[in-house]
Amino acid sequence: MCPHCKDPKSRVVKDGFFPRAVGHIKRVQRYRCRACKRKFSAQTGALTYRERKPHLTQKIMRLLMEGVSQRGCARSLRCTQTTVANKLVRLGARAQMHLLARSSDDIAKSAPIETVIFDEMETFEHSKCKPVAIAIAVNAANRCVIAAEVAVMPAKGKLAPIARKRYGKRQDDRPETMRRVLSEVHRLCPAVTLLKSDKCPRYPGYVRKIFGKQLKHETYKGRKGCVVGQGELKRGGRDPLFTLNHTCAMFRDRIKRLSRRTWCTTKRVDRLGCLVHLYAWWHNQLIFRAKNPLMMT
Ligand SMILES: [Zn+2]
Repeated sequence: MCPHCKDPKSRVVKDGFFPRAVGHIKRVQRYRCRACKRKFSAQTGALTYRERKPHLTQKIMRLLMEGVSQRGCARSLRCTQTTVANKLVRLGARAQMHLLARSSDDIAKSAPIETVIFDEMETFEHSKCKPVAIAIAVNAANRCVIAAEVAVMPAKGKLAPIARKRYGKRQDDRPETMRRVLSEVHRLCPAVTLLKSDKCPRYPGYVRKIFGKQLKHETYKGRKGCVVGQGELKRGGRDPLFTLNHTCAMFRDRIKRLSRRTWCTTKRVDRLGCLVHLYAWWHNQLIFRAKNPLMMT
């Protein structure tokens, strides 16, 4: 299909090649649209469009998804940190595009989704005084991530006055972000009959607004985390929110800056968002046993 006029009926014909200096594809096919007379190539709209190091894109994605930091990626692949950062932005945008392009049939696969668990996990940017929340919703049956979004939030407890003094008032994006995540659940899981979460007082209001009063919403009291799950897996007995806590523990393990007691920190919230979208996509690829889960297209 022509990327300019986007008309599915327009005829597209081959129109020679152009040489590419980098990567393993030495020449790129050009195309011409008969309808609008404009030209494009096999690279137009591709993940590595106009990139100088297209051969590193998939490697960088795999390293970032195995708990390697951005600097660690640059060191092991012998490229610059800027290359890694640029690719992360593209990969994150691509992953978000794939996540938003899903339909309710894509995500249901074998059985329709009936129970969804949602919650927020916390991290910070630059300093503990500037916390960040990651809102996540997962399918309770198979751990598939339905939506994951990042929100800035003000510091809580003893840190709150110190944070206000140092950095001023910090906005709270959590309500808006949680509503976005639950709207995505509403769009992708039409057969949902039960929502589960912890006892956060903000949640019932969002659920009623998006799903109406009929939908059942069960809340559970939070329990103390244990050391092995990096705080997300709970101690003692059966955990009713296990699927979500397990997925959060995987986010913490696979994204370097989210792991506890690490030297790495988030410097930019938007880049954390890129990593969260990328991991959500990657996680689902592995759960659904996609044909080639290690390739971003
Ligand atoms: Zn056209």
